[in-house]
Amino acid sequence: MAWPAPYKNGTIPVSALGLIPASLTDPGTLKIIGKQYLHKAALADLKLMATAFQKQFGKALTVTQGYRPLGKPSDKTATDQPATQWAAWNWYEEHGSPIAAKPGTSNHGLALAVDLGAGVNVAGSAEHNWVVKNGPQWGWKWGAVPSEPWHVEHLSTTQVYKAPAKKTTLKAPAKTIAFTWKQIQKAINAHGYKPALAADNKPGPKTLAGIKWFQKEYGLAQDGIVGTATQAHLFPELKRGQRNAMVLFAKQILKADGYRGFVMNNAYGIGLARAVAKFKKANKIADKSGNELGVPFWKKAIK
Ligand SMILES: [Zn+2]
Repeated sequence: MAWPAPYKNGTIPVSALGLIPASLTDPGTLKIIGKQYLHKAALADLKLMATAFQKQFGKALTVTQGYRPLGKPSDKTATDQPATQWAAWNWYEEHGSPIAAKPGTSNHGLALAVDLGAGVNVAGSAEHNWVVKNGPQWGWKWGAVPSEPWHVEHLSTTQVYKAPAKKTTLKAPAKTIAFTWKQIQKAINAHGYKPALAADNKPGPKTLAGIKWFQKEYGLAQDGIVGTATQAHLFPELKRGQRNAMVLFAKQILKADGYRGFVMNNAYGIGLARAVAKFKKANKIADKSGNELGVPFWKKAIK
């Protein structure tokens, strides 16, 4: 809902905005004429609110002003076109009326505020009270400035200035182990994740969800980061006598590679041990840890 980074307050190109239908606009007391714009998501919510308002009061819910570009300090009156934040500021200064937001800080500049007409602009009116009470169900909240009964803000407003949420906490695997994303995706699936991740080697939201699921399963911190601990659990060291899903996974990998001599189950027996030894020899894997099947195996075997 927040604006992409390049758009600062009052500098949003109208091409990025939604046009408020003329049927929902009205020049208002500031006699602002011309087209009015709004954040597209906020506009969709405004239309829903307008439909309900129409049903309730038998008239259109009108907007006297939506998006307000920054403008420049010399913009003298709010009737200058386009009506700017500087113009509104100067108009209020001249008229000694309610305070306009300092230019560059208005929620109008984020295209997430509107000034409403149609009676909503009259404090204590049935229309105003209706918007205060019902607006939030479409994301619209009265600004709660008593002298500005007309000013409502979209609830997303508060999120706009927050630092953008961390896009993803996916991190590259530690260099010492260096598994590919494809290997990580396959390992998560082998551990039983459903629905299985696409092994596309591209970390995205689904892979992140898979990592967090895995971390929860193994009692690890659910940070979505494939760090040392997570990798150690994802690509475990296996020994004879063990029974688990990763044993079966190892067999599946080896079978696909043409190795035979083991039963396709989750038990690590002599057949698997022999196949692993052959695989390691063929792939020149020297597992310094002394484990039969560990990180060097997984690294080479998961394709
Ligand atoms: Zn306003």
